[in-house]
Amino acid sequence: MTVAVDRTSEARDFNDSTTPPLHHPPLIVFSDFDGTITQADVTDRILEELAHPLWREVEDEWVRGLIGSRECLERQMALVDASAEELNALIDSIPLDPTFAAFYQFTRREGIPFYVVSDGFDYVISRILKRAGVDGELENGRHIYASHLEVSGRRVAASFPHSDCEHGCATCKAAVMRQVENRDTRIVFIGDGFSDRFAVEEADVVFAKKQLLGYCRRRNIPCRAFETFADVQTKLEKLAAKPKMTRQGAKMRRPAPVR
Ligand SMILES: [Mg+2]
Ligand SMILES: [Zn+2]
Repeated sequence: MTVAVDRTSEARDFNDSTTPPLHHPPLIVFSDFDGTITQADVTDRILEELAHPLWREVEDEWVRGLIGSRECLERQMALVDASAEELNALIDSIPLDPTFAAFYQFTRREGIPFYVVSDGFDYVISRILKRAGVDGELENGRHIYASHLEVSGRRVAASFPHSDCEHGCATCKAAVMRQVENRDTRIVFIGDGFSDRFAVEEADVVFAKKQLLGYCRRRNIPCRAFETFADVQTKLEKLAAKPKMTRQGAKMRRPAPVR
């Protein structure tokens, strides 16, 4: 039997403990990086500590919706004046969510594909994930969609290999998610910020904190508040539970309600 996935009702089921979903298509997880996997926004810290103060005026244009994040980051990164050593020392000082590595290993064990989608920079993300000790597709960069940074002398240059969209995104998280989704998967998105607002529209299940939580609540977008990846893992363990066969092998047992 084919079960059509109604994205709206899937999302509603998730928040409604009285109507557990009967259909359990596999999960795919997409996560923001800055402020979600890390405890601070690395790009903001680079700008605060290593860029000419004009970066704040560019930021203001982005917040007011005058420019997309691609133009914003391109102009801001051109204001950075730092050596690779200074940049690396700053990156190495950024703390991660201490539960992230265990969460990533959980997705590997369960066979849940996990992707990082970020306006931030591959250089920064790879360096931090290496410190986190993650392996496999994250470590080799195949599951990372991010902006690109070239460091040369005291200058850095940003480029945007995943930015082709109508929003002006540096990395279009929504477009990346559309590329890999199919009818029979549940798309999970985890994020914290304003640059995640297009991604939530592509997700069946949204975990949100900080600015993104406020954004979702103002627009009645179903979402689950979280603080750490341990919170997300607890919830996904319930969502990933497959319907089990009874001893007769005939009937599906209703899965436990998701709370
Ligand atoms: Mg973020
Ligand atoms: Zn976009």
